[in-house]
Amino acid sequence: MEFDVIIIGSGLAGMTAALELAPRRRVALVAKGPLMDGASPRAQGGIAAPLALEDSVADHVRDTLTAGAGLSDATAARQIIAQARDAIAWLQHQGVGFTRAGDALHLTQEGGHGRRRIVHSADATGRCIMDALHDRVRRQPGITLLPRHFAIDVIQRGAAGTPCQGVRLLDIEHARYVDMMASHVVLASGGAGQVYDTTSAPPSATGDGIAMAWRAGCRIANMAFTQFHPTGLHHPQSGGFLISEAVRGEGGLLRLPGARRFMPDHDPRAELAPRDIVARAIHQEMRRHGLDCVHLDISHRLRDFLLTHFPTIHAHCLALGIDMAVDPIPVAPTAHYTCGGIVADTTGRTEVANLYAVGEAACTGLHGANRLASNSLLECVVMGRSAARDILLRPAASVRHAPAAPTPAHGPDAQTRQHAEALRDALRRLMSREVGVVRTDAGLLRAKSQIGALTAQIKAYCDRDGTSMALLELRNLAQVAALIVNDAIAQCGSRGAHFNTDRP
Ligand SMILES: Cc1cc2nc3c(=O)[nH]c(=O)nc-3n(C[C@H](O)[C@H](O)[C@H](O)COP(=O)(O)OP(=O)(O)OC[C@H]3O[C@@H](n4cnc5c(N)ncnc54)[C@H](O)[C@@H]3O)c2cc1C
Repeated sequence: MEFDVIIIGSGLAGMTAALELAPRRRVALVAKGPLMDGASPRAQGGIAAPLALEDSVADHVRDTLTAGAGLSDATAARQIIAQARDAIAWLQHQGVGFTRAGDALHLTQEGGHGRRRIVHSADATGRCIMDALHDRVRRQPGITLLPRHFAIDVIQRGAAGTPCQGVRLLDIEHARYVDMMASHVVLASGGAGQVYDTTSAPPSATGDGIAMAWRAGCRIANMAFTQFHPTGLHHPQSGGFLISEAVRGEGGLLRLPGARRFMPDHDPRAELAPRDIVARAIHQEMRRHGLDCVHLDISHRLRDFLLTHFPTIHAHCLALGIDMAVDPIPVAPTAHYTCGGIVADTTGRTEVANLYAVGEAACTGLHGANRLASNSLLECVVMGRSAARDILLRPAASVRHAPAAPTPAHGPDAQTRQHAEALRDALRRLMSREVGVVRTDAGLLRAKSQIGALTAQIKAYCDRDGTSMALLELRNLAQVAALIVNDAIAQCGSRGAHFNTDRP
């Protein structure tokens, strides 16, 4: 199979790039599961853009740099945010219906933003955007959809660092390898939240693209900065469900049992402080009082208001027996967003020729040490379009055929599968325990040594028992865990989403 461009990942970043490329290039859009398995359809809150009359690109950039705690690339942030207005118009042109307030788009407020700036579709923004783009993608003859194909590694002209020529895939249904060649490959494979055992990220977020790019010779940056969302729904059947930041934006208050507010003791912005500050405050209060969760209370708002603004959250909570119009919602911090990733410039180019990275898998410098709420959907659209524009400027060079791919010998037996599951659980528990919201020097060193031991076992399984998606994901999770821990150890202080009590 030969294409001009192969896109790994059918989330917002991948679909945007595909739609911009397809009229002029033959595109393969690859997903390891069904097409809508990524984080994008889960996004609730919205997409940030300085659309209000009294708002400006400069103000939005300032808030982004403040959240990024000195580690954002100001030039990249300016370039990306300057395209926000266009990005919203492009989405509307694709058929996305955003919530309106009269003639204008309704803008909501989220933590860290100095003003109302979040465009949204009630509280199901990601789902509305992805439904519209999915519809377009299906009707575009230039796009070949390849769900249930797992990208294993980039095919390069020579050793790591040499130009990219294609991708080796595992066709999951037929249990066979496929070597697919193309003049350009775009990694739009999402984040790595699954490296933690409590996460809002989807099961697909195993950091595959980041690990692939690392093996291919790309630089990976800022992996210490995993953003923990302060308000994951704390319930045994929550399924990683989040209580959107917009609930605090619309007046939700964080309380301890007995209804005492605590955020004003931690930050003058109280509930509207940036995520890392709120997450650490909740973590500290839970530790201090021996709690599993705290409460987010928006019961002072009328039910009609809650049903209009938060229909999905209202319904999800109600199904679990929590009526947010009456009861406070139990919440606790949960791993949410990978601020670091594959180093890419604002055209999406990585340091390996012909290889691009966009969306959550990439590190453009926009987020720095901490992502400002709702900047990631924005980055997906802007960078998906930028990468497509850059690729369209280059010729679709002819590609050399790779030798036929060997067929996997056999899949892992039941016992190996069981061991692999146990290793995955152990790795995720270790990361949550030692490399979570709050870290210590000793904990990071323990994590480093235990990840080394786990990696050796995982390699032995991969070598001995052929290959399966579960084992390949596990290999990538261990690789990404090592990148996170090594970067965390290399930090000489604390900032943004990385907090080490020994180096405050
Ligand atoms: C619950 C939740 C709520 C959020 N709310 C917001 C919000 O309100 N606003 C905001 O800006 N951001 C929000 N975010 C973050 C945002 O949704 C994500 O950062 C963004 O959607 C990532 O998009 P993406 O296209 O990079 O990746 P994804 O949408 O995660 O898509 C990744 C794709 O890559 C594929 N893939 C991965 N590995 C492989 C492989 N090895 N082979 C083949 N395919 C592969 C997957 O199958 C999937 O199709 C939220 C995230 C979550 C989890």
